[in-house]
Amino acid sequence: MAKLKVGVIGGGIVGASVGYNLSLYDFVDVSLFEKDQIGSGTTAKSAGTVCLFDDSLPHEFWEVRLYGFQTYTNMEKEERGSAGFHNTGTLVVCTDEKVEKYTRTGIALAKAAGYEAEYLTDPDEIRKHFPDINLEGVLGAGWTGEDGYFDPTVAANTFVKKMKANGGKVYQYTKVEKINMKGNRVTGLETNNSSFDFDVIVDASGPWTRYVSRMVGLELPIWHTKAEVFFLVPPNKKLDYQFPTLKYPRFYARPEGDNIFICKAHLTMDLTDPMHAGVWDPDALTPTGGTDEYFFEFLMEELEHHAPRLLNSGLAFSWLGYRAEPPDFLPILGDTPVEGYVLAVGCGGNGVIEAPAIGRDIALFVAYGEKSVLLKRLPLSRFEKQFDLKAVGVVQTPQ
Ligand SMILES: Cc1cc2nc3c(=O)[nH]c(=O)nc-3n(C[C@H](O)[C@H](O)[C@H](O)COP(=O)(O)OP(=O)(O)OC[C@H]3O[C@@H](n4cnc5c(N)ncnc54)[C@H](O)[C@@H]3O)c2cc1C
Repeated sequence: MAKLKVGVIGGGIVGASVGYNLSLYDFVDVSLFEKDQIGSGTTAKSAGTVCLFDDSLPHEFWEVRLYGFQTYTNMEKEERGSAGFHNTGTLVVCTDEKVEKYTRTGIALAKAAGYEAEYLTDPDEIRKHFPDINLEGVLGAGWTGEDGYFDPTVAANTFVKKMKANGGKVYQYTKVEKINMKGNRVTGLETNNSSFDFDVIVDASGPWTRYVSRMVGLELPIWHTKAEVFFLVPPNKKLDYQFPTLKYPRFYARPEGDNIFICKAHLTMDLTDPMHAGVWDPDALTPTGGTDEYFFEFLMEELEHHAPRLLNSGLAFSWLGYRAEPPDFLPILGDTPVEGYVLAVGCGGNGVIEAPAIGRDIALFVAYGEKSVLLKRLPLSRFEKQFDLKAVGVVQTPQ
């Protein structure tokens, strides 16, 4: 029997996970196309935090978070370093009752899954994990020592290695330039050096999807938010304690060697504010630099309030990445009005957490047509009434 031929566009953490999961079905012949190197897009700019609890993703998606964490830790167990795990633990600092309730729920969920987690209110206990904290206005903090951050580029390459071992094909430095169609159905694609026939094409092109989807006549409601990262050199060049992964409602931070990686929280971004969001060309991004004074000042104000000693840090370097955000800050997954064109896009600030579950569920859908709870909850059709999804070359503004 002829195999189902599937092409995946994009070799970020999402496309790599989709490709790997598709390669697990022996009747699927999967090929992945990446115009650059695997994991070199948004994935390479990521903080890679996959925490057992924080406020980045609603608890409704707890299974997605847990599956993500377990997938990467299992990768590490199979081969040390293959997911680039840094076990820093996470301190979620609660400055209002809403976040406190949210964190306490996260702690309960993590414990239910067998992990150690606790809610701290004793100032000395909180300071033990983050000695530089200013506790004024702090209600308490959630702590787990079991999680931290991963290296998503390394994890994407591990997915791809496993995909190849299962017979999947990977084309790096191969740009998809055209998607071929017959009527309303995709039939294949053309790259900078060849053409391929496919039954199904999965678009996992991250912030490029605004351009890729136009190849099939769709305008996706996805905006780019600026993810501006600043690497601080702490006072005396080195901290005298292990810096944790640190989550505040408005920003987050984690160690990067002896430096501190610090970034504005993705859920604080306003899609209608041109300083925060727009539709920009991700190919114009540079590996470092390109950041705005606005975001640096914002983060310094946060530090002034929450950890004033760290204001004495120097700035080592910075970078800018684009998060691909739909209006509800949740991914767009599954089928589209174009037959055979499937989406695994719009992962915004949570793509590393979400990639394992997205890969698993998109593969199930492509292979058997079965929609998981995740795919039923996050289809493109949820935006049909609000946006004209036909590509017209006009950028629509979110409401
Ligand atoms: C600063 C920052 C911090 C973040 N922190 C976290 C975090 O702590 N935890 C978390 O879960 N998430 C985090 N994220 C979000 C996460 O990194 C992204 O959601 C995730 O990397 C998106 O992966 P992707 O595979 O969808 O996109 P990408 O990694 O951008 O991959 C898309 C790929 O498609 C390729 N492509 C595009 N067009 C074509 C074409 N025509 N032909 C072939 N290939 C093409 C691109 O080259 C690219 O490699 C962060 C993001 C940023 C920027």
